[in-house]
Amino acid sequence: MATENYTNAVLVIHGGAGIITREQLGEREQDFHDVLSAALSRGYDAWKAGLSAVDIITTAVSHLEDSPLFNAGCGSVLTHMGTVEMDAAVMRGSDLAAGSVTQLTTARNPIMVARHVMECSPFVMLAGAGADQYVAENTLAQETQSYFITPARQQQLDQQRASGSISLSEDNKFGTVGAVAVDDRGGIAAATSTGGMTNKHYGRVGDSPIIGAGTYADNRTCAVSATGHGEYFIRTTCAASIAARIRWGSQSLHDASEAVVCDELLKLGGSGGIIALQSDGTGVATINCSGMYRGVVTTSGDVYVAIFESGSGIWKNIAG
Ligand code: ASP
Repeated sequence: MATENYTNAVLVIHGGAGIITREQLGEREQDFHDVLSAALSRGYDAWKAGLSAVDIITTAVSHLEDSPLFNAGCGSVLTHMGTVEMDAAVMRGSDLAAGSVTQLTTARNPIMVARHVMECSPFVMLAGAGADQYVAENTLAQETQSYFITPARQQQLDQQRASGSISLSEDNKFGTVGAVAVDDRGGIAAATSTGGMTNKHYGRVGDSPIIGAGTYADNRTCAVSATGHGEYFIRTTCAASIAARIRWGSQSLHDASEAVVCDELLKLGGSGGIIALQSDGTGVATINCSGMYRGVVTTSGDVYVAIFESGSGIWKNIAG
């Protein structure tokens, strides 16, 4: 798949992209489908209740953070030191408000911290010990490191340490989570949350919390959440480049996404993908690798969840 196109979308989510095969997933394939579907259902409920695009994306992303299957919140990948350092960002397209956190070690839901920074502080980005302190000061939900560290992530780190690679997450797949949504007023927003990359140096910051790299939203163009090898997404200012191509180059969302993901990123060697959405409900999922955990829910409550090539997913209706 290069690009999958959606219409009448309310919410598009991803759970990471990379080289994903059915053999690797085995029986867990259904588990991934179930968690993605549940995140879409929760987001849809928020949309039906007339909540904002920021409410919709943070509802969906919090649900994914709480699942140990994904590389965000519980189940985040580990640094070389065996610790968890989480990054997250939120951006609102109506006024370009943004909030971002990096190297969090205690927040149960990093996306809620990013949202809090956006809505309740005069800052855009908080890092490291200061970000952890912000979580405590504002009594946002906290957990000890053992909550975040799963046996599967420990095993991945052990393997990567043994092979000596300072590398990507296991099997070259990433597992970061993200969401883009449009509310019933046409406002759009983007959110991304991640543990980063397995065996990363402590203090390493990826693209997810960098506004314009892994996360961006502007009502005039689109909302974007990225996943992949973050250093390349920073170097191409991936998310903002897609928006700029629409705004200044009059490109369609589809063409802008393909140009950045399948040309600019690929030429540098940056693997991964994006989801993006416009205020009219036009959405895309674009990847330059073999798979992406992804899903969409439409205004009529049709939910689609997929992992592999375009058209491989399952549609069901949840409107009831
Ligand atoms: N983009 C993330 C990072 O580099 C990783 C991912 O997407 O899984 O931190």
